Amino acid sequence: MKYDCCCLIVIMAIMVASVLPVEVAPYVWGEQLNESPRLVGEQGDVLLVRISLADHPLTVVGTFLRRQVPFVSVGDGPDYVGLLGIDMQDTPGSYALKIKASYPDHTVPMSMSVRVINHAYPVQRLTLPRTMVDLDKNTLVRVKAEAKTIKNVFLGLTKERWWMSAFVKPVEGKVSGRFGSQRIINGAPRSPHSGEDIAAPRGTAVVAMNEGMVRLTMDHFFTGKGVIIDHGLGLFSMYFHLSAIEVDQDQRVRKGQVIGKVGSTGRATGPHLHWGVRLNGARVNPYALLSIPAEGFSQPE
Ligand SMILES: [Zn+2]
Repeated sequence: MKYDCCCLIVIMAIMVASVLPVEVAPYVWGEQLNESPRLVGEQGDVLLVRISLADHPLTVVGTFLRRQVPFVSVGDGPDYVGLLGIDMQDTPGSYALKIKASYPDHTVPMSMSVRVINHAYPVQRLTLPRTMVDLDKNTLVRVKAEAKTIKNVFLGLTKERWWMSAFVKPVEGKVSGRFGSQRIINGAPRSPHSGEDIAAPRGTAVVAMNEGMVRLTMDHFFTGKGVIIDHGLGLFSMYFHLSAIEVDQDQRVRKGQVIGKVGSTGRATGPHLHWGVRLNGARVNPYALLSIPAEGFSQPE
């Protein structure tokens, strides 16, 4: 499978299936360098992109739909991996993932085509108290300020990678609100659901899906008591509607560490965890991360 070339040897992308798996075989490139490799993913998916370089660059950074895709070295050889997030509302079509490997005296550009395919999202109808939907002026001001606080958290880019081994589910339970659902609240269409709702008894422990740093603990109008963890390289996880928060801002957390308890604070119809993931600005299905194969991490489980 090795191909002797000055820069790129093998590009392999592995489809990480979300709720509805798509049949995509691992893609191996290297036999025909004049043929652009193609990756395929659904809206909301996460693609593990692995590239092998002939020597060690200083940095490897990709760009996809104006979003950064940082690459990091894994294993003993000059292998690099990056997580490419396809936003839940990226328009279906083909786009370029442009990768640049930078060396002290030159850069090596690479490009591959990524085909985004449509995901058929379910429709979810909800009935909520009017005061939770038709917001008064003061609440609107509050909600806008809270949205800005959250947005600012996602602007921070930690160059280190803290997800060093497989991701874990933050709580066991039944999915009660699917990622990407087109929401119709009190009869009117609203923003799509950007996470997964997992129903579980009030007080059930919620754990961190991987190592990271707590960037925000909050008690917001929509999210209720919530925690946002930074896992490095632009990957963030969110845990909302908690009845209790058991970590502090700027605290390092281990994978599986209890960070809070299931509740129904904020806008919630019953006890559940809203689990959301942001990957370099893309709203992706958190379940997609659970299927990342071992080659995505330098330390096998
Ligand atoms: Zn939710």
